[in-house]
Amino acid sequence: MARKAKAGREPVAESPPAAAEVRSAEPRAVDLLVWYDRHRRDLPWRAKPGETADPYRVWLSEIMLQQTTVAAVRPFYLRFLDRFPTVEALAAAPTDAVMQAWAGLGYYSRARNLHACAKAVVERHRGRFPGTEAELLTLPGIGAYTAAAVAAIAFDEPAAAVDGNVERVMSRVHTVDEPLPKAKPQIRALTEAIVPRERPGDFAQALMDLGATICTSKRPACALCPWMRPCRARAEGTQETYPRKVKKVEGQLRLGAAFVVLRADDSVLLRTRPPLGLLGGMAEPPTSEWTPDYATSQAMLDAPLEARWKRLPGIVRHVFTHFPLELTVFFAKVPRDATAPDGMRWTPRAKLGDEALPGSMKKVLVHALGALPNSLPSAGEIGQPSEPEEGEVGERSESGEGESRRRLTPKEARSEPGGGASGRSLPLGRERAEPQDREDGKDGPSPDPFQGAPSPAKGGGLGRASARGRGLKR
Ligand code: SF4
Repeated sequence: MARKAKAGREPVAESPPAAAEVRSAEPRAVDLLVWYDRHRRDLPWRAKPGETADPYRVWLSEIMLQQTTVAAVRPFYLRFLDRFPTVEALAAAPTDAVMQAWAGLGYYSRARNLHACAKAVVERHRGRFPGTEAELLTLPGIGAYTAAAVAAIAFDEPAAAVDGNVERVMSRVHTVDEPLPKAKPQIRALTEAIVPRERPGDFAQALMDLGATICTSKRPACALCPWMRPCRARAEGTQETYPRKVKKVEGQLRLGAAFVVLRADDSVLLRTRPPLGLLGGMAEPPTSEWTPDYATSQAMLDAPLEARWKRLPGIVRHVFTHFPLELTVFFAKVPRDATAPDGMRWTPRAKLGDEALPGSMKKVLVHALGALPNSLPSAGEIGQPSEPEEGEVGERSESGEGESRRRLTPKEARSEPGGGASGRSLPLGRERAEPQDREDGKDGPSPDPFQGAPSPAKGGGLGRASARGRGLKR
């Protein structure tokens, strides 16, 4: 049965500790709960004091928040919930509609798993989420972290939900010197040891809020922390050195070309990627292979059709989980009667916002065409250096995914009532895309593709320039 959130400032099970006791003690759940009752963030998926938590909303938010900030998720969550208000509605939706609603959040296998999980809940559990960690773990796309978070927050199970924020807090409080990811079992055990039997759901959220708003990666606000006294890293002045991490090896830069074709009726050439693999099932303008040694001088061999192609100044950059990508964009206009090559289609520019375009491909279209209509900004445009998207090698483990979730600057965190971050929705336009998209900002704004664009090839010859142009081997 779904749990009811406790009213704020309600007396907790234990009485406040004496100062001397706190100084010498281990961190206590009761101190964190007292702090939470006063400083909890007001989040759209969070039950207010006295309300009953909705397992569907809790699960949906936890999946969306993996690798993404609260500020980035908020507009997506509200739009998604409006479109799919119940697990039954989500289960019954076509895959394309789910992918489209997810577009911009990155890590697209999460959307596929989300849909599969909704179907499983409806088929196996008659639309009711199971209430234990063990049962939740049997559902598609639910790993150890999500199972614990949903069990604790929605059903008040005493489960330890350990995400990146919690790892940071616990590793500091206990000065865990083992680097991540090896330290994960130790941190998990330390967290399990402190989960209270009373209010475990509030405790889980309190720990997440503490990591997001006070115990931040840089310059934690220790003076405001309910665990300031028992925190060992704070006593040593070594807070920012935790959690210890093994230096990450950056993926090798890949290069490629993207081809934006505008038909005279204001339609854009798109295709859908294969359902599995990198950006599976998402829409994109045709692109070449992406390889470390891609020769842009040979890009015309990969063009999807014959036309007078113009290479646009600047480069579109994007960072995937496992590699950074730089795409050179080519643009062409073709006549109204041009037909789409096999496996491709024309989408009216006014309807591009309805396509399931990942952040990387939105950047390509914005680079060539300017702002897209009816499109939410990608997660990267709101709160991250670049929208993370799943890499070719596979996604990070679930606990790893939590690493960047809810990580806000102290300024962001404190700028909202309750310490939360703002969920401003910004237009997707050149103004926001340029600093990230263009190499070192050297190239200035993209030229207007409608001024000085090459005229279409005579007769609108649309034979495929190369079979490679249709390939998706990456
Ligand atoms: S005292 Fe500082 S470092 Fe320690 S848990 Fe609190 S905010 Fe984090």
